[in-house]
Amino acid sequence: MRRKVIAGNWKMNNNLPESQNLITKLISGLGNEKLNCEVIICPPFPSLSEAASLVKNTVVKLGAQNMYFEDSGAFTGEVSASMLKSVGCEYVILGHSERRTLFGENDQLINKKIKKALTSGLKPIFCVGETLQEREGNVTKNVIKRQITEGLKEISANDMDRIIIAYEPVWAIGTGKTATPEQAEEVHAFIRGLISSLYSQSVAESLVIQYGGSVKPDNAKELLSQKNIDGSLVGGACLKADSFISIIKAA
Ligand code: PEP
Repeated sequence: MRRKVIAGNWKMNNNLPESQNLITKLISGLGNEKLNCEVIICPPFPSLSEAASLVKNTVVKLGAQNMYFEDSGAFTGEVSASMLKSVGCEYVILGHSERRTLFGENDQLINKKIKKALTSGLKPIFCVGETLQEREGNVTKNVIKRQITEGLKEISANDMDRIIIAYEPVWAIGTGKTATPEQAEEVHAFIRGLISSLYSQSVAESLVIQYGGSVKPDNAKELLSQKNIDGSLVGGACLKADSFISIIKAA
């Protein structure tokens, strides 16, 4: 049985007091109930350090939304893997479609970031997904195959147990349009098959593959009950403690 992982991508939302407030609500709402899933929150950089103190000794783990692959130096505006580690991050989202489309990140850059995250002891949540035009052009699988093959280049089978892949169809992110459970399951099964051919069946079987794209309390259960969907990466619905908790409970 693979574990389920629910991660919240806050994006560019919540200043420090707002972050404190949301985390406090989330932690008290989750209470001491035993969960069947791992829970991760990914607040913006300025809130990470405080978030780390607030989630200490709770079930909630901490992730960042991005990082650069160099160790240090003249890279204005960037943060390094070791900076994220030093403030208590365990995970880092890499290759999010907003990074790819708005900030021009390509597969090669994402591959460098994934490798750096791994050698620095961070666990990447590696996002892939097709645009609407690509889906309508029937090239979804080619796109996913390219993103995964390039993104995971030179990454060993051993390291694969520290990677989560998030399948996030771009047309479903922040649009309210969710992939149907069948559409998502088809791509998740394809990704698992691809990992099996790139690595081995056992690597593929233990890989956590999250679905992301307008996951809400009312569609989470059905999506999460698909055989190859092992959790979700949640954007909009993680900004309210109640709706994020409902999704966590659905898992
Ligand atoms: C995301 O940004 O990763 C995401 C899935 O956003 P939303 O849930 O708002 O579609």
